[in-house]
Amino acid sequence: MRRRRRVKIVATLGPASESPATMSELFSAGVDMFRINMSHASRESMRERVTAIRELEKSFDRPIGILADLQGPKLRIGGFADKGGVELERGQHFTLDADPAKGDASRVHLPHPEILGSLEAGHKVLLDDGKLALRILEARPDRAVTEVVIGGRLTDRKGVSVPDTVIPITAMTDKDRGDAEAAIDAGVDWIAVSFVQRPEDVAEVKKMARGHCAVLAKIEKPQAVARFEEIMEIADAVMVARGDLGVELPLEKVPGIQKRITRLTRRTGKPVVIATQMLESMISSPVPTRAEVSDVATAVFEGADAVMLSAESAAGKYPVEAVTMMNRIAEEVESDPNHPIIIAGQRGSPEATGADAIAAAARSITETVGVSAIIAWSESGATALRVARERPELPILVLTPNVHTARRLTIGWGLHAVVTDDAHDVDDMVNRAVEIARNEDFVKSGERVIIIAGLPFGTPGATNMIRIAFA
Ligand code: PGA
Ligand code: MN
Repeated sequence: MRRRRRVKIVATLGPASESPATMSELFSAGVDMFRINMSHASRESMRERVTAIRELEKSFDRPIGILADLQGPKLRIGGFADKGGVELERGQHFTLDADPAKGDASRVHLPHPEILGSLEAGHKVLLDDGKLALRILEARPDRAVTEVVIGGRLTDRKGVSVPDTVIPITAMTDKDRGDAEAAIDAGVDWIAVSFVQRPEDVAEVKKMARGHCAVLAKIEKPQAVARFEEIMEIADAVMVARGDLGVELPLEKVPGIQKRITRLTRRTGKPVVIATQMLESMISSPVPTRAEVSDVATAVFEGADAVMLSAESAAGKYPVEAVTMMNRIAEEVESDPNHPIIIAGQRGSPEATGADAIAAAARSITETVGVSAIIAWSESGATALRVARERPELPILVLTPNVHTARRLTIGWGLHAVVTDDAHDVDDMVNRAVEIARNEDFVKSGERVIIIAGLPFGTPGATNMIRIAFA
């Protein structure tokens, strides 16, 4: 099975989507990578989902990516006695306290003694990505009485942010360390680090992963925006995490930051994911707003590697429709005559390596002679990402002996990976590439393909060969 688009779709799993039947529908509709949000999933349920996704892989015979997203030092309220949460009215008093008992319309648990201890009268408290706002009237170490400034519905474990308050936090909590270990052990392909502030935050997880999975840095704090280049250098991919970014920074700054991060990241050749509220209204409506469609389109026109669904697929009423809609927008935008022009406008020049010289040459050949696909033999996936960095107009088929590489590349722009043994010799390399390209519907017989590889096989970083072949 082959997708008709280059941008990838990441969908968050949750109560609305975790049954094997729904996951299968979501994959058919276009999901390339599933995100397991460790803010909501227990380690046990994470393991169950990993097993279910690996089953799905078998039934579709396609690699599927799994991203375990660590909660990080995200501050959250506790739960409510009523499953549907409570409605807070403007002007009413609402207390955040140290009592773990279930909350009601007058109070809720705030399970973070360090914030309760740091709040002061007059400080703002934002809830649920800033949808609700409170002002502190009275702060004591075990409770803060607030006045509701912006009301609304508040449900279990919603995020809390305190922009006026200085609180001592590190990127990895004990829960995150345990979750990361469990996720690595379960064999996830990517781990996302939340609320990164420093390159060291990413380095810590990379050290834990020891190459068993790749590490994505979520850019959702002003501190990460300020040190973006250094963070980018150490991360394997980044996410523009607009949910928290828009709470931590003025909302109007988010689009510019999104564009800057997308462009800088594209230049490095590492994948960049655009996340949060992309089709938000589809949580409760079968059709998105025009503005949302336009938002997804912007990310696709900019050449982001992936677009992500959060609550739309995790907890919404229309998870499959949301994926279908994203897929349709992506296919349409990518066939727009302006798409290749805009994409090419941000193409970085090749770096001084064999892989880049060959990736650039491959793209240039496709623009000279009629070719149907670029086929890259890539053991680690590094060469495949360098080809994707060129954003060629032709499909990219990646052949790898390593299933972990194939899964990891599900995040990368335009990459369709197939697992196959290393070739024995040049003839085998060409013949097998052509045969797989035909089977996977990338080329018809008599058409041309470009094959790139490193010889001898099994030597990483040795991309040194380019070949035009007939199918
Ligand atoms: P979250 O991250 O969904 O884990 O909060 C994404 C974001 O903040 O945009
Ligand atoms: Mn976030």
